[in-house]
Amino acid sequence: AARAQRAWISLNAAERGRRLWALGALVRREAEALARLECANTGKPIRDCRAEVSRVVEMAEYWAGWCDKIEGRTIPVPSGHLVYVRREPHGVVLAITPWNAPLFTCGWNVLPALAAGNAVVLKPSEHTPLTSLAFGRLALEAGLPEGLVQVVAGLGATTGQALLAAPEVAMATFVGGPATGARVAAACAARTIPCVLELGGKSANIVFDDADLPVAVQGAQQAIFAGSGQSCVAGSRLLVQRRLHDRFVALLAEASARIRLGDPLDPATEAGPVCTARQFEHVGALVEAGRAEGARVLAAPREGLPAGGFWVPPTILAGLSNGARAAQEEIFGPVVAAIPFDDEAEAITLANATGFGLAGAVWTRDVGRAHRVAAAVRAGTFWVNGYRTIHVSAPFGGFGASGHGRSSGREALDAYTAAKAVWVDTAENPALGFGHRPDIG
Ligand code: NDP
Repeated sequence: AARAQRAWISLNAAERGRRLWALGALVRREAEALARLECANTGKPIRDCRAEVSRVVEMAEYWAGWCDKIEGRTIPVPSGHLVYVRREPHGVVLAITPWNAPLFTCGWNVLPALAAGNAVVLKPSEHTPLTSLAFGRLALEAGLPEGLVQVVAGLGATTGQALLAAPEVAMATFVGGPATGARVAAACAARTIPCVLELGGKSANIVFDDADLPVAVQGAQQAIFAGSGQSCVAGSRLLVQRRLHDRFVALLAEASARIRLGDPLDPATEAGPVCTARQFEHVGALVEAGRAEGARVLAAPREGLPAGGFWVPPTILAGLSNGARAAQEEIFGPVVAAIPFDDEAEAITLANATGFGLAGAVWTRDVGRAHRVAAAVRAGTFWVNGYRTIHVSAPFGGFGASGHGRSSGREALDAYTAAKAVWVDTAENPALGFGHRPDIG
């Protein structure tokens, strides 16, 4: 990877851009095969898999465009030197990605690192490595230097940690759970290398009683039940103004019962099973914790589900307090905690009463309130009268336990490069010697 990175950075920037664009074209050529592979590997509905593959094409095109636009700047220092700043790649970047959206997170993390001039070693989750391995093959076919994108299959605790300890790895990027994120950060700290962490959340979806009701109900469904809730930005805490709360929960339960669960390969399927046995147990344990903490459990009926598979019907935990375990821990499944609030101040307090800070949303017709709440909630991404849209061109990342660093948009280029200041002495007689240049620090 280190050798390939030197070959990559020695190409001119426009040529690097052309090759990333070619990689996007190959992902487009293989779109259906990749979507089917992703579907088989993760259990996500085929229509979601198709959408995710097309987003990877978009990412490749976006980052291809950046390759020849990473510019430096000059600084008017008092000594009169010409000081210019170069943005330089770290070298080899290790990307560790999770099982919930394997190809999407592969593109999301690998492509900006490449655009910034790095090589990437990718360690996908051992639960779902197949599309990442296919992506690695397409990178070679696109003309990226051999070894520039390497995909290493293996378990996180062994392979992941071994890669983090490799001296060639100069930066790491990690998407996954908070406990593992802390281990990755500790391994990076031991080697004093930087890392970007994206660790999920417990995002507040705030509905005021002046919201457009049918649209907000649909939005709340999208927020938590899309992808069977296995999404880092999932709106897993539904805060509803008290006057509307019971009606909203009833409407959401009714609408959620109509979500079509079934064979992920069936184009009509809207939600698949949970991805792994471990995740299935984790989701079940937190639903039980919610019940024990006094939640009213409203689960969609299970009839008609295929035999086998880790099925969890859309579930609402109503009447929980915000401090309950099921309202604080990331469930990462189709389970939402519904919590009432009285006024704007309380909504903001509850929204921020979690260690996480990844995303959130507000539903209201009051424009001023929408912007006040957007400013006051601690989250890296916030939606007004919507949920879940993200794009490679906008910065994405978290506050607090949701991690740090930004993995998309132009902000990602700061993470994937380091600044170098070059000082050029422009004095007429720079050789005057020690003591003659008091302006130099
Ligand atoms: P992890 O966070 O443990 O896994 C994410 C990635 O980290 C995988 O590639 C995994 O590899 C790797 N990994 C695991 N242990 C280590 C380690 N010690 N050092 C380096 N890398 C490691 O996810 P889990 O499957 O354990 O899920 C736990 C919880 O995390 C979920 O219930 C959910 O709440 C949350 N989560 C959040 C995600 C998000 O997008 N924010 C994504 C996935 C999970 P491998 O799987 O091969 O062991």
